Amino acid sequence: MANIGFIGLGNMGAPMAINLAKAGHSVKAFDLSQEAVAKVVAGGGAAASSAQDAALGAEIIVTMLPASQHVEGLFLGNGASGGSQPGLLQHIAKGALIIDSSTIAAATSQKVAKAAEASGIGFIDAPVSGGTGGAIAGTLTFMVGGSATHLERARPLLEKMGKNIFHAGDVGAGQTAKICNNMLLGILMIGTSEAIALGVANGLDPKVLSEIMRRSSGGNWALEVYNPCPGVQEASAATRGYTGGFGTDLMLKDLGLAQESAMTVKASTPLGGMARQLYAAHSIAGHGGEDFSSVIKMLQKKG
Ligand code: NAD
Repeated sequence: MANIGFIGLGNMGAPMAINLAKAGHSVKAFDLSQEAVAKVVAGGGAAASSAQDAALGAEIIVTMLPASQHVEGLFLGNGASGGSQPGLLQHIAKGALIIDSSTIAAATSQKVAKAAEASGIGFIDAPVSGGTGGAIAGTLTFMVGGSATHLERARPLLEKMGKNIFHAGDVGAGQTAKICNNMLLGILMIGTSEAIALGVANGLDPKVLSEIMRRSSGGNWALEVYNPCPGVQEASAATRGYTGGFGTDLMLKDLGLAQESAMTVKASTPLGGMARQLYAAHSIAGHGGEDFSSVIKMLQKKG
């Protein structure tokens, strides 16, 4: 059983940390939110008073943070941007392994990995797919970038949080796979919302229409488990008032990463670009903190 420091206990991190604790690992958990820490303690973890405390004596550090700047700031400190906050790397034991499951820029993963390896610390990027439902059930898909040796060391832990584990390539490759997937997800959520809104505006019952499309050639993951229309699926974020899922602003971040990546390699991603614009408009309209499936609101007939 491993000594694990887990940092970032939001919608995804908390259930992932709890699954590691349930499997018998010693999990010291830290988040800026005390409420988030309390959730993991109730699920079998131990509270850390700081990120440094979580890293103390840990063989494995798992991070599940919002975006690139949080991961870079945590591990490397804010010296590069004129601050005096030291990075966590200097408090992590030589020989430890970092598993970063946040969705961030591949270039940031590579930068942190290089600094970690220079200090004798291993690093893999291991972003996930499967939503909060998958995090709770321990059925996430992991997309791993990094050495095969580090992946094999991480695998027993990844298997407690997920069902499918893919080795995408070198450090950063997991992130590239993840943003390709999320660009597709962002597009298909808008397409699914458009189709449901069109049917409903023509008098169809959204439940009946969703079931028809789910079993027809338009079937997709949103229709299977993440229907954007409230009341169609009991367990969906839409039915919970668009809370507790994958935030619009996180989707916007991922679509931005996809566009940056596309510019780097001169790829043409017209629908990904359009999707980024639509989620940006939705965020500006005040829905950034709601689940991303709330994008259906901009397509529904009012009144
Ligand atoms: P979230 O906003 O619910 O949680 C992020 C947590 O990180 C918060 O609790 C916040 O307090 C904490 N945090 C931020 N900075 C910190 C710091 N310096 N030290 C300690 N804690 C800090 O986000 P989430 O939905 O859990 O997503 C986390 C990551 O996983 C994101 O990169 C997201 O894109 C990705 N992701 C999310 C989903 C999903 O369905 N929610 C699915 C796959 C991937």
